[in-house]
Amino acid sequence: MPAALEASGLGKSYGAVSALGALDLAIPRGLVYGVLGPNGAGKSTLLRLALGLVKPSRGSVRLLGESQINARVLRRVGAMIEAPALYPFLTARETMRAFARYSGLKDPAREEAVLDRVGLTAAADRRAKTFSMGMRQRLALGAALLTRPELLILDEPTNGLDPAGIHEMRTLIRDLVEKENVTIILSSHLLDEVQKVCDRVAFINRGELVAEGKVSELVSGQGGLFIRATPMAKALAVLGLRARLEGDGLVAAIPEDAAPALIRDLVAAGVDVYEARWMTQSLERVFMSTMGGGA
Ligand code: ATP
Repeated sequence: MPAALEASGLGKSYGAVSALGALDLAIPRGLVYGVLGPNGAGKSTLLRLALGLVKPSRGSVRLLGESQINARVLRRVGAMIEAPALYPFLTARETMRAFARYSGLKDPAREEAVLDRVGLTAAADRRAKTFSMGMRQRLALGAALLTRPELLILDEPTNGLDPAGIHEMRTLIRDLVEKENVTIILSSHLLDEVQKVCDRVAFINRGELVAEGKVSELVSGQGGLFIRATPMAKALAVLGLRARLEGDGLVAAIPEDAAPALIRDLVAAGVDVYEARWMTQSLERVFMSTMGGGA
């Protein structure tokens, strides 16, 4: 099966400004894929190029295997780019009807099913202007889902949402991928959020791809063994250069098979160990070290 999105030497310049350099990237299907980077990194530009909203200055892009980004392939894709453009005086139900007509869809049952899917059945007859930001985002997502897209492209889907709204959006995104086999590509600069929702990510900085991989692989391994123990001075003496202080404990930079011996040494030295657990690296740390701390 062709990739959801494939970029080869893809680049875009606006006059003298290079928004995207020459990107090589293949985004597989069946997962949530995060495009990450600081403001101005080129994330939106990549998504716009993928949807044919802007033309590449260099290279090429394939969407669901198609090199021509035309109406035929776009029918298989749902998109939410920028703040959702909704009609404030239409109710949620009327909004669905309007978007369905626009897509040439004559299936009222689908409109109701989508309202239900995004959790807006109870609010279906309320006007969009009375909706919270989270409800608006869900309504816009519903509109994008009407045509049963294989691929959803979401630019900053949690932008402006409160923690409850972010949680709702995350659950919805995971459900769509796991239960309905949709592929989702989203952009974000909220690394903590992305770590919770994405399977794979690409880090973009100043228009260049700086890292790419599975979230679980990017965050694992480099964290170390967190140890909470007293007296701290004795624990530090046992660990020597392998330790760094963190929170109310210390982190030992050791491989997993060195842990039992280390804990034995600590106990033998009269240290009381209250806690010892493997830490995973946060995506934020990976990101900052990838960017050389200069993001
Ligand atoms: P953000 O998180 O702020 O949305 P982004 O990673 O999505 O950032 P882009 O919007 O892709 O970044 O912008 C990348 C660069 O291209 C920026 O320097 C931006 O100013 C520039 N740029 C984007 N669109 C245009 C345009 N239409 N005209 C001129 N410059 C543009």
